[in-house]
Amino acid sequence: MTVYLVGAGPGDPGLLTRRGADLLARADVVVYDRLVDRSLLALAPEGAELVDAGKQPAEERARTPVERPGATRQDEINELLVSLGRAGRTVVRLKGGDPFVFGRGGEEAEALGAAGVPYEVVPGVTSAFAAPAYAGIPVTHRGLSTSVTVVTGHVGTPGTGDGVRWEDLARAGGTLVILMGMATRAEIARRLVAGGRSPGTPVAVVEWGTTPAQRSTRTTLEHLGDVNLDSPSVIVVGPVAGLDLSWLAAPPLAGWSVVVTRPRDQSAELTEALGTAGARVLEVPTIAVADPEDGGVALAEAAAGVAAYRWVAFTSANAVHRFMALLRDARDLRTASLAVVGSATAAALADHGLVPDLVPDRATGEGLAAAFPDPAPGARVLFPRADAARESLPSGLRRRGWPVDEVVAYRTVPAPDPPAEVARLVEEADAVTFTSPSTVAGFLAMTGPGGRPLRAPPVVASIGPVTTRAARDAGLAVAVEAGSPSAADLVAALVDHRLGARTPSGSPGAAGRPGP
Ligand code: SAH
Repeated sequence: MTVYLVGAGPGDPGLLTRRGADLLARADVVVYDRLVDRSLLALAPEGAELVDAGKQPAEERARTPVERPGATRQDEINELLVSLGRAGRTVVRLKGGDPFVFGRGGEEAEALGAAGVPYEVVPGVTSAFAAPAYAGIPVTHRGLSTSVTVVTGHVGTPGTGDGVRWEDLARAGGTLVILMGMATRAEIARRLVAGGRSPGTPVAVVEWGTTPAQRSTRTTLEHLGDVNLDSPSVIVVGPVAGLDLSWLAAPPLAGWSVVVTRPRDQSAELTEALGTAGARVLEVPTIAVADPEDGGVALAEAAAGVAAYRWVAFTSANAVHRFMALLRDARDLRTASLAVVGSATAAALADHGLVPDLVPDRATGEGLAAAFPDPAPGARVLFPRADAARESLPSGLRRRGWPVDEVVAYRTVPAPDPPAEVARLVEEADAVTFTSPSTVAGFLAMTGPGGRPLRAPPVVASIGPVTTRAARDAGLAVAVEAGSPSAADLVAALVDHRLGARTPSGSPGAAGRPGP
């Protein structure tokens, strides 16, 4: 069937066109690019195949998210689109911004046309105009600029910016919007000045425009080389870059640096939620997860005998994963029902294709114990748990008459001390988040700069009452507690705290515009 070359817009998912959304909703396959906002993929029907056509090594991604030339990759993508189209699938080729603006959409259309595969183009909002707009810059403006030229900084020999006749462009006047120009910005500026633009010409750089991570800065041509932003950015050159019609409110945690203490493999949700709220995230795991003392023998025995239990209860995602890994598959559970404490443990079960039978309204051990049905004769509960944690679930269940077998599924052990520079950043951060009593203990066991104990940042945020108690017992002043134990609610509570802590006149970064 048809291959649709769809512009995803510049980042803000609200800038996808209606036609694009309609097509996504009936795609069999979505082939998407690096810069495409992942939330758009959720518009595809369940079961649609999602193909990441923007894969590249992580370390390279960190450096140059967009500027990697990919001739071979592009051939592969063309072939993929042709073969998917020939296979009769409804294919959405989702590309950042507009597919025909430096998106290589033209090449894909050529390849499809040559192969006789029908295609359709759905234009998108290009970052060339949208990123400046979100930074308060109109690319044309009566009296200031009567034309706008969109130009790539990534042609010719890497690092030189040749291939574009910059001196001629300088003479043509009007606004220049440069895409993919960050690597060559100093050279571009030099050549525009050589072509006659004044060194004092206003310049704006907008990084991650229209996304929650948007940052922008204003400068002049002579200082463009010193701008400390990275790809993806658009560079706007010309008098309009001196206008500041900013209208976008900064995200609520903009300017804040927040420490995340959970182990990296469990921190993704929190890190993402913090980033979306505009915070700079500093990941400093204070605990690591290790095998139980007995190497897991008891857990393996418990898993082998699981069919004898009426319930298996979980209060941690780690326990879910370690326990489930020991089953052949879910059939080993036979008639055992599954109880979990909250959304994170439920999500962990979902990773194994399982739906919990019981999730309490109140996501605590006490809440889960209270939500259990009354015990039946001979029925038992199996509780795979962490070694050290204070667990209210087993005592609560026993009080209600349930026999509970506890088995250690994993141990939390202190993580190694952070390097001195990282320790310093932790102490200079605005807030620290704790997601379990063991993250608190791990933090307090860490050594800071100069060999003394690591100091906590001014705002201490906790995921729930048990963690709060542990932190207070250890002498930390907990200012923020999540309404329910989820990453989203922890971030919401931090935001509330920050907004509440503002003075009426507004504390730094409180209101206003994105910008460094
Ligand atoms: N087809 C895309 C452009 C692809 S080229 C479009 O129409 O927007 C990739 C370049 O686009 C990046 O190097 C950067 O210069 C620019 N870009 C894309 N998304 C951006 C964003 N959200 N903010 C700033 N620049 C962006």
